Amino acid sequence: MPFDPELDNAPRLLARAARAAGSRPDLTQGGGGNVSIKLGAERMLVKASGVQLKDVTPAGGYALVNYGNIRRRIASGPGGENEFSEFICAQALPVKGVKPARPSVETGFHALLNTVVIHTHSVYANILNMSAEGHALGREMFPGAEFIPYKSPGPQLCSAINDRARASGPQVFFLANHGLAAAHAGTEGALELNERVNETIRRGLSLPPYPGVKPSAGLSAHNAGRLAHYGENFILENILSPDQALYCGPAALGGRGEMGAVNEVLTALFYILDCIRALNFTPRFLTGPEVAYFDTMKSGRYSGR
Ligand SMILES: [Zn+2]
Repeated sequence: MPFDPELDNAPRLLARAARAAGSRPDLTQGGGGNVSIKLGAERMLVKASGVQLKDVTPAGGYALVNYGNIRRRIASGPGGENEFSEFICAQALPVKGVKPARPSVETGFHALLNTVVIHTHSVYANILNMSAEGHALGREMFPGAEFIPYKSPGPQLCSAINDRARASGPQVFFLANHGLAAAHAGTEGALELNERVNETIRRGLSLPPYPGVKPSAGLSAHNAGRLAHYGENFILENILSPDQALYCGPAALGGRGEMGAVNEVLTALFYILDCIRALNFTPRFLTGPEVAYFDTMKSGRYSGR
């Protein structure tokens, strides 16, 4: 019998976590970030690929997967990019009344952690994740957290997280040039843990308020101003994150494209760069081969997360 979302509380809890994480542009930008909740030893609800966090509801925007299989697959060696992605899609199970959806491409690492996982591209965590000094400082601020060096999203990142993951207990992962994952036994606990990490960084580093992101047909006035300050070539040649690689090409910087997401990603990027400079830290840009990885992904499904 397929899973019936009306007979289970988990879809409501998932939607609550998704809204909390997805309605703040300082935590998620564009299609970035995802949440999941495990229902027992084998089944997990996870945000669907191509859906924005804020659009997840109890009635849709998520997939049900067998995470036990995904966990076992990662433990025995996840395999190559496409193979691993196809394996994850093949673990999707039917949900009554919900359109079949592909699980998020980041489902792999959700499978490895505690019951509720909140993964965001928090600008506060990313000041630590995207600077040369950040992870050493982060270890002092969060002695129990894990700090993962940059890995391209997919099987490599899953294997790196698997080495440090625990299936129980609260856990915080800082993912270099990428984001933050907070895992906890319950939804409220996971949201509180996520909030506590962000607040600790904001206060600890005395960070300025996050600028508002207003909808705009082209580049927002704020982003146009920051782009003029850094220079278009500098932004095209120095890539801090997968989001920048995927969303901020020459057309986007010229004000053409999916501007809602572009303006969110750019505002986050400039905030992180501005803060790294103000702190006298050194930005840790992706290397040439790390950036080249995204050229093959641009037309693919990574942009839907
Ligand atoms: Zn991510």
